[in-house]
Amino acid sequence: MKGFSATESFQYFVEKLQHSWTVVGPIIAADGVCRLQELGEAAARTCPCLPLIPQKKILLPPAELLWSSLEGSNQLHPASLSPAAVALIDVAPCDLYALAYLDQAYTDDPFYQERRQRLLIIGRECSPTTFCHCPPRTAPPPFDLFFAGDDVWCGSELGENVLREFASALVARKDVALPQEYWAGQGAPLPNDLAVRFLQSDADPLWAEVAKRCLSCGACSAACPTCACYDVVDDVSLSGESKRQRVWDNCFFRDHGLVAGGHNFRPDRTARLRFRFEHKYLGFGGQRGISSCVGCGRCQQVCPVEINLAHVLEKLPALEER
Ligand code: SF4
Ligand code: SF4
Repeated sequence: MKGFSATESFQYFVEKLQHSWTVVGPIIAADGVCRLQELGEAAARTCPCLPLIPQKKILLPPAELLWSSLEGSNQLHPASLSPAAVALIDVAPCDLYALAYLDQAYTDDPFYQERRQRLLIIGRECSPTTFCHCPPRTAPPPFDLFFAGDDVWCGSELGENVLREFASALVARKDVALPQEYWAGQGAPLPNDLAVRFLQSDADPLWAEVAKRCLSCGACSAACPTCACYDVVDDVSLSGESKRQRVWDNCFFRDHGLVAGGHNFRPDRTARLRFRFEHKYLGFGGQRGISSCVGCGRCQQVCPVEINLAHVLEKLPALEER
């Protein structure tokens, strides 16, 4: 937009967007914590911070009703779905990759897909923190719109339509694809023999050493943009109503590996810690060729005993060191 800075143009665009969309973005609250919040009428300024709890809380709420006997049928409970279309703005590249991961992991989930189809995703340039360790990447992340510097890119038909409707003066770059500098990770690549290292590290004392420090608080999983385990909980009340909910679960919790009959696949903290690491790097990778760690560093940021996933991985002995 001629006569306006890139920031002013973006702000103007967001204000127009608010007429039709519930606009949500990262805002630093009075307590100094960056959270995803709905922008109010005053159009609070977002900031390039990583929200402590990422966008999974919109797509997969911490608790949601799946079914209630009061509905009189076995249908999924529609009231638990957010009625509004949500525009998620200022999404950092690592969180765009995390969304792509969740899209694959929840491809058959009707609740997730219902929300996902009503989500407009607007990415932005990365503002790295001291905790980041994003791996090298070979392809740009998916997005509807992406703002960087004075430029904007459209990544979908939805993005093109929204730009045309709400910011016709902003012209999307079509001459070049989103440049690598905006999405290529700067961290070290994962070791080629990672799968073998994990498979042969079952009895390695490294896991017990790290587990001695771990509190099993689960903060790392809660803050992780790709950790999305849930439990299904039934509640039957004397009033006659019965409800089925799904609630966030956490692989650091003792019950996570508990199955019918009382057997627990991961009864101790060492096994749970190793499981989380293995799942982060190998759980989905073998099946879909995608790591579930996008290197955002939130897990290290929130860990009360400063356990660093990347550092632990570096210590995992290579075959020749055994
Ligand atoms: S494991 Fe840690 S660094 Fe990797 S995506 Fe999750 S929170 Fe981010
Ligand atoms: S945040 Fe740290 S202490 Fe808590 S479960 Fe995760 S690794 Fe363990």
